[in-house]
Amino acid sequence: MGVRTREDYIESLKRQKPVVYMNGDKVDNIIENKFFQVGINSIAVTYDLANDPKFSDAFTLYSSLINEKISIWTNIQENSDQALIKTKLMRTIGEVTLCPCHYRCLTTDCVNAAWAVSYEIDKKYGTNYHKNVTEIVKKIQREDLVIGGAIVDPKGDRRFSPIEQEDPDMYLHIVDKNDEGVIVRGAKSHSTAAPYTNLLCVFPSRPMSKKEKDYAIAFFTPVDADGIKFICKAPPMPEESKDIENPISSRFGHVETTIIFDDVFVPWENVFMCGENEFTVNMLRIFNSFHTWHKCCCRCASMELSIGALALSTYYAGTTEAPHIKSYLTKMIMNYEIVYACALAAAIEGFKHPSGVYVPNRIYGNTGKVFAAEVLGEERYYLQEASGGVVVTMPSEKDYRNPETGKYLKKYLKARKGTSVDERVKVIKLIEDLIASKWAGWYWGMCISGGATTQTLKERIFSDFDIEKAKEIAKKAAKIE
Ligand SMILES: Cc1cc2nc3c(=O)[nH]c(=O)nc-3n(C[C@H](O)[C@H](O)[C@H](O)COP(=O)(O)OP(=O)(O)OC[C@H]3O[C@@H](n4cnc5c(N)ncnc54)[C@H](O)[C@@H]3O)c2cc1C
Repeated sequence: MGVRTREDYIESLKRQKPVVYMNGDKVDNIIENKFFQVGINSIAVTYDLANDPKFSDAFTLYSSLINEKISIWTNIQENSDQALIKTKLMRTIGEVTLCPCHYRCLTTDCVNAAWAVSYEIDKKYGTNYHKNVTEIVKKIQREDLVIGGAIVDPKGDRRFSPIEQEDPDMYLHIVDKNDEGVIVRGAKSHSTAAPYTNLLCVFPSRPMSKKEKDYAIAFFTPVDADGIKFICKAPPMPEESKDIENPISSRFGHVETTIIFDDVFVPWENVFMCGENEFTVNMLRIFNSFHTWHKCCCRCASMELSIGALALSTYYAGTTEAPHIKSYLTKMIMNYEIVYACALAAAIEGFKHPSGVYVPNRIYGNTGKVFAAEVLGEERYYLQEASGGVVVTMPSEKDYRNPETGKYLKKYLKARKGTSVDERVKVIKLIEDLIASKWAGWYWGMCISGGATTQTLKERIFSDFDIEKAKEIAKKAAKIE
């Protein structure tokens, strides 16, 4: 198959039987549950693009591993050209679909990191992990699967390491091993989209020491393996679907999940790290290099949407030409281009790992990700300030549609001469969705905490930078021998 359709993806979900809970109830069929629709749709847009004649050439490529056309999301990235093309494409996805998180990036992040690290471990210990990963990647490519990243552990008391925790299950760990495989226990917090992915990629959320070998475990697992339970939070969508209200959140968004691993059996052929604790660092490093690069690309797409929304709302209000509005727009454009430049730099300045994976440059992806998170508040300030109170005070779409009240709202919401009040209202409702809705809160959390804490990323940025070299330059300039 290599490249599947939206329908194939949904059919694959029907064949899976994950144990799912939400809002206090067990959900027997996620396909028919309204809370899963926006998430499934968010992922499905990537299948639509791969099959759209206008985009299919861009969103697919040839895999020498399976000798077939595959999706760009399942590719083992080979060179900077592929990374560059993808950086540009990810912006296109934003322009075409308006979907702020399609989650397919996690498939690339996980398969590439697993590919590289399993290769490293085999080199040192003569293990068989790379063959395992190769077979899994072939399956992922052939069936065009969606991979869920189950990485972040509950972590308990942050002052203590995994083995110092009162409860040993605060980090996922091995409880038993036999000839067939390993048995693991623990949980993974905040896993986006997990129940409507096809396979989970599970690995440690922190470097593990020699004493923590039982916590150095990485594997792929079907979402409906015995003992896996998903406790889900409903997506940030409106109560009911409307026409002009919530134009983003009624179509896109995700279910968030706490995944319980209640003594889950993982066959050896799905394992790619089991006790080789020193490789946890590189697993995180390579995953992080891919993930924050992808995050920069996605943030660009949504920053461009915000720029357009502010330009439109001030156009309809008649304030576009005001110097402070131009200054807001200029600042938003600069922020956007800085993040895009980081994504481009990460794509171009990467390195070729001995396993064949081309890894994006971490310092640029991390810098862009942190910067984009920090300026999200600024972006929202500009959108609110420039668009005015109406963004948060305008009555509902139902009042706007009700002839008794609508005639007044249409009269008093009219602004720039010669423009349509309906269009102005649509833009106001778009901005409400972007900055003052349930979805806006979720997106805020995703931009700031998703992908790693800002502090962690800043520590990596600091350690990746050559301070000693900078000091030498300064010494030379100061004429210090
Ligand atoms: C919307 C969203 C989607 C996500 N999707 C996924 C996903 O698909 N898969 C996945 O695995 N994860 C996902 N995450 C998890 C995300 O990666 C984590 O939220 C992030 O790594 C931070 O971890 P935490 O939430 O446990 O925060 P914490 O670790 O509790 O951090 C909170 C603060 O405490 C500080 N802190 C923590 N420990 C220490 C310490 N020992 N000493 C000093 N300070 C400390 C941090 O620096 C930070 O400032 C998602 C998160 C969000 C919000």
